[in-house]
Amino acid sequence: MGAEAGVDFVIAETFSHAEEALIALDVIKQTGLPAVVTMALHREPVTRDGFTPAEACKRLEAAGADVVGLNCIRGPRTMLPHLEAIRAAVSCHVAALPVPYRTHDDEPTFQSLHDPEFDGLPFPTGLDPFMCTRYDIASFGETALGLGIRYLGVCCGAGPHHIRSLAESVGRTPPASRYTADMSKHAYLGTDARPAQGEPGVRRAALAALRLGERPVMAPRVGSTSAGSCIAGGAAHGFSLPHRSPAPLAARAGLCPAGGQGRLVSERAEGGVRGGTLGSPR
Ligand SMILES: [Zn+2]
Repeated sequence: MGAEAGVDFVIAETFSHAEEALIALDVIKQTGLPAVVTMALHREPVTRDGFTPAEACKRLEAAGADVVGLNCIRGPRTMLPHLEAIRAAVSCHVAALPVPYRTHDDEPTFQSLHDPEFDGLPFPTGLDPFMCTRYDIASFGETALGLGIRYLGVCCGAGPHHIRSLAESVGRTPPASRYTADMSKHAYLGTDARPAQGEPGVRRAALAALRLGERPVMAPRVGSTSAGSCIAGGAAHGFSLPHRSPAPLAARAGLCPAGGQGRLVSERAEGGVRGGTLGSPR
């Protein structure tokens, strides 16, 4: 049935009991499609029915699973040792999809993490302090691939940057890589030869313009960032525009990030002042 629907393979995941995973595998096998079956390992380093992850995966492979492994519950650090044991125990593909949290030996699952600055249980809505960085996930990807684990993902809690970082860590360049941070362009930390070091000055200038009412104010020496001011919801505020914006000055009026009726009162772009007062704020 699945094959007629264009399904390539079927995934059964987050099983705490090996016996349940075997039942799921049996059902998948009836479709004739490849089966991916991954177990969830809780605080105890065995399944709920007492098998080590390696034993459980060995049984699943023997019963016909094409991919076996672990997903959810544990973060990279406390999942990796078990993945290594699974990899040594089976010859089929191995899957690894940890949660993106910094679990550790004392608190090996994301449900068991405790926050010293919070009396309640962090799981599931207070896990922010334990979140893996994109670099943690990249490190996990490199290590897992080095172990011969080639079905990789990130489970509950993953953000787009985690998935992107994981893909890049194993040599892929997904479409989302166009959003990967290029720190060479950072205003203060970057190495770009055309710095925007005047940005704080631009903000001050924009605010000064507002304090001066409608009097046109030229931005100070600012490199290539532009300043404006805006009346949004009756409250005046200054804003700066991204440098190197290709839009002509007139088209850039109204670019206020607060979505208000932006009025560019002054701009100093690369190469000098290229515009003056466009109009008074309403
Ligand atoms: Zn999950």
